[in-house]
Amino acid sequence: MNSIQYMEQAERDLLHTYNRYGVILKSGAGVYLTDTDGKQYLDFAAGIGVCALGYGNQEYNQALKDQIDELIHTSNLYYNLPVIKAAEQLKKVSGMDRVFFTNSGTEAIEGAIKAAKKYAYTKDGHAGHEIIAMNNSFHGRSLGALSVTGNKHYQEAFEPLLEGIRFAEFNRLDTVKELVNGKTCAILLETIQGEGGIYPAQTDFLEGIAEICKENDILLILDEIQCGMGRSGKMFAWQNYSVQPDIMTAAKALGCGVPVGAFFMTERVAEKSLVPGDHGTTYGGNPFAAAAVLKTLEIMEHNHITEHVKKVSDYLWERLEKLKEKHTSILDHRGIGLMQGLQMSLPVGEVSKNVLKEGLILITAGSNVLRFLPPLIIAERHVDEMAAMLDRILDEMER
Ligand SMILES: *Cc1c(COP(=O)(O)O)cnc(C)c1O
Repeated sequence: MNSIQYMEQAERDLLHTYNRYGVILKSGAGVYLTDTDGKQYLDFAAGIGVCALGYGNQEYNQALKDQIDELIHTSNLYYNLPVIKAAEQLKKVSGMDRVFFTNSGTEAIEGAIKAAKKYAYTKDGHAGHEIIAMNNSFHGRSLGALSVTGNKHYQEAFEPLLEGIRFAEFNRLDTVKELVNGKTCAILLETIQGEGGIYPAQTDFLEGIAEICKENDILLILDEIQCGMGRSGKMFAWQNYSVQPDIMTAAKALGCGVPVGAFFMTERVAEKSLVPGDHGTTYGGNPFAAAAVLKTLEIMEHNHITEHVKKVSDYLWERLEKLKEKHTSILDHRGIGLMQGLQMSLPVGEVSKNVLKEGLILITAGSNVLRFLPPLIIAERHVDEMAAMLDRILDEMER
């Protein structure tokens, strides 16, 4: 069967919840992917921010192979060594005190919501608390996470969703203040909005929210699923600000391709939050997933990944600024570290398809943003290669 026939089969057999690009990706090496027809692509999407170490990292692959031979799964009824070590390392890099491993980002958000509600319940002796979330946010597709995702288009068919969720405007502190009341138990936001179109939290906004939280014993929940794990030039994006979350979520690059997420909390929260019987997962933090987390953290540390991100992301910033000066279709350029976006007047879906034909994987965010989310190991020459291809396509499309 040829690749067209395989794709036709996929469209018959898989539930049609994605409009996929017309390629079958088969293998990867470094920051390049190869499809079933042997065509090579420079990857500036990293499987939506997952493959931070790129492809074919031998140390990472070997650790997974070794863990498969040792033990893949135990359930959480028993201890296992990889999860103990992974939690220790995550505490070190995050400054948080307690970790719960999940299987995905959306599940980490579910846990974070439950943890905040339980904290307020223990404190106040009653339920019925409210959460303030942001418009234009994205926190996942399960019903709890969907309830805090401020996007009517994603929510409408699935209502009624969770009660007691209020939406404020991202980067407008006054709209948050208006919603705070005696029932508010948490304020939840992405430190850098990803799916919504790459909007970093402004310093005044995030620090203002942290202040509100502190004054009212409201929990600050930061979603670091996309912007965390080194992407911002710090291990977690909130470390670029003078704030400390009470609860935090991670996923995507946490396992660099092995499906794993986590939610974290401080000891102060943990003391009044989830206890045996309140929450669980069969797979979460199994030895295989935990080995991936542990090795990812080890490689990131040895390779000084955050310093590398700072340097190469400055270079990416300059190159995209140059493109912006030249191309009238580029309206705005935003982002932190290796999470940058170009707001376009051209249809970004078309740009994305056209650069793919050229051999460049670039995805979109929001309705009009090109999103740059490369593996964290990219070098300046890859930035140059990307910029040359994008430049060519924009020249053509602007004509
Ligand atoms: C991707 C993402 C999620 C959901 O993660 P899944 O693993 O797809 O469930 C939640 N929050 C943010 C910020 C994300 O980028």
